[in-house]
Amino acid sequence: MSIIEEFCIKILDKCPDIKQLKKIHCRLIINGNIISASHIVLKLMKCYSECRQITVTRQLFDEMPQKDVVFFNVMIRSYLNNHFYSKALHMYRNMFKFNINPDHFTVPQVLKACSASANLWVGLQTHVAVFKKGLLSNLYVGNGLITMYGKCNRLVDAHKVFDEMPNRDVVSWNSLVAVYAQNGMFDAALEVCRAMIRSSNLRPNAGMMASLSPAVTSSTSLDNVMFMKEMFMSYARGSLVSWNVMIAVYVNNSMPTDAVNLYLQMDIFGIDPDSITVASVLPAIGDLSALILGKKIHEYAQRNKLLPNLTVENALIDMYAKCGSLSDARNVFDAMKTRDVVSWTSMVSAYGMTGDGQNAITVFTNMLDKGLTPDSISFVPVLSACSHAGLLDQGKRFFKLMTDEYKIVPRLEHLACMVDLLGRSGRINEAYNFIQKMKLKPNDRIWGVLLSACKVHSNMDIGLVAADHLFQLVPEQAGYYVLLSNIYAKAGRWKDVTNIRSIMKVKGVKKEPGVSNVELNSQVHSFLAGDQSHPQSKEIYEKLDVLVGKMREMGYVPETDSALHDIEDEDKGYHLAVHSEKLAIVFVILNTEPFTPIRITKNLRVCEDCHIAAKMISKIVEREIVLRDTNRFHHFKNGVCSCGDYW
Ligand code: ZN
Ligand code: ZN
Repeated sequence: MSIIEEFCIKILDKCPDIKQLKKIHCRLIINGNIISASHIVLKLMKCYSECRQITVTRQLFDEMPQKDVVFFNVMIRSYLNNHFYSKALHMYRNMFKFNINPDHFTVPQVLKACSASANLWVGLQTHVAVFKKGLLSNLYVGNGLITMYGKCNRLVDAHKVFDEMPNRDVVSWNSLVAVYAQNGMFDAALEVCRAMIRSSNLRPNAGMMASLSPAVTSSTSLDNVMFMKEMFMSYARGSLVSWNVMIAVYVNNSMPTDAVNLYLQMDIFGIDPDSITVASVLPAIGDLSALILGKKIHEYAQRNKLLPNLTVENALIDMYAKCGSLSDARNVFDAMKTRDVVSWTSMVSAYGMTGDGQNAITVFTNMLDKGLTPDSISFVPVLSACSHAGLLDQGKRFFKLMTDEYKIVPRLEHLACMVDLLGRSGRINEAYNFIQKMKLKPNDRIWGVLLSACKVHSNMDIGLVAADHLFQLVPEQAGYYVLLSNIYAKAGRWKDVTNIRSIMKVKGVKKEPGVSNVELNSQVHSFLAGDQSHPQSKEIYEKLDVLVGKMREMGYVPETDSALHDIEDEDKGYHLAVHSEKLAIVFVILNTEPFTPIRITKNLRVCEDCHIAAKMISKIVEREIVLRDTNRFHHFKNGVCSCGDYW
């Protein structure tokens, strides 16, 4: 080997940039080394492919008079790495014309090209060839087949290949996990992870967490979440992907506190969140209304140049809206360079939640003016904004626009908005007719909305019809329990009242426990109903007693006295009956300066008693109280609520 040749090869091995590569190429031609030495040509091909110069790569390949299997392999890989999948497969077919036999390096490349282009036909042919050559014992080949079948939606075949492999490595298991995960079968994917731990001495790794990531958007059992946590803690904490996956799992399984805590731990482990982490954790921040923490994450994103990024910005709007900070949401929205339908929809929903129907409509109309096409999802917040703000005509207009102009078939969410809209405006009969004409079978939400409207507008006849439907659909659901027993009591149907009460007692109440969250000094404090676990518990109850005393002077009668109060609280002592939002409110009063606004989120709909209490407390302590329940924001100020007592 000449000195020049040796020198050139050294540089080629380091993958030079295109300028240097061309220089080396010229020198090799001048020296005359190139034609004779196939190992140099192969190196050149690889380098040109790295530099995305696929045409030159192909030229070098074509100019080579004698080509063996290695040349074909390099050419196929070059096409593959540059995303020319059909060309890669074409090259594979050419091999046979040249009478060259594919080897165990060729097959995995071809399978990759089949996977990437979902080419089942060539994939099947390759499988046959693999079978004939007895290549299945090669791990790369077997793993490639699993992935190929998975990408072509042949789950059973993928699993069959896996079963037939004589030996498997972690990648084989990961490939099978990915097959299920990509098809949204989270539970099945996790079962594969469990099987691996059970039946081999292999252990999960960060790659397995990554394989699971496409499925984490679906929710799963608590058991599975705990299993994921164990995998994460034991084997996969070293890689950012694993953290992102674990945060997403918590968020999608309604465990926002765990998601946020995990995010806060990243710093300790020296892992820097990326835009995916930020976009994943922001919904949890919103769920907890942890505004200050949300702002910190926003700053982090700015400082680390994660913005502009559409997904992150949309998540920021949503987070600020849920934290009740409309101006911050609007600032993010206004600063965006590009906006998609999600951005606009989030902004509409931000205004809608605070009861600002007029601005919600303006934003929605602006979106239409910009020429964006609203989808089924984007009509929900504008309709709901109209109903929360009592804008009957506009609401009807948007519903017509959706069905007639955009030809969107209304779903139950849209229909519930319309029933709500009509009901709130006192058009109970019209709302009832609307339900009867619906093409979809009304669900409990729709009857519930109608029942609430009947209660407010004292329409006994239709109210009872709604109640009866509701009773049949979801007799065991605690959300409607008070509503139902109230209306039956009003109608004097005591037998039904007793019925409901005994159902509740016998079946037990299917109810998630009420949790209220407040943020104090960048920490989220959670309270359960009757919670006595908080270190400041004693103080909180003492202060609450003082407040209740003042409220009684103002004419407050605690609903716990009433026979119709939530069954969950019955048969328990007075303190146990205290709902979580009251505890959270008092906790903030105790720990902040006078006049500091109080922000609270609750995972259930706020009850009438707490609503009255919050109104009175806002007057007594002269503080604004912002309470977000599952439906909307309640903004209590000086004894009144922004919802107008209708929620
Ligand atoms: Zn309550
Ligand atoms: Zn309210």
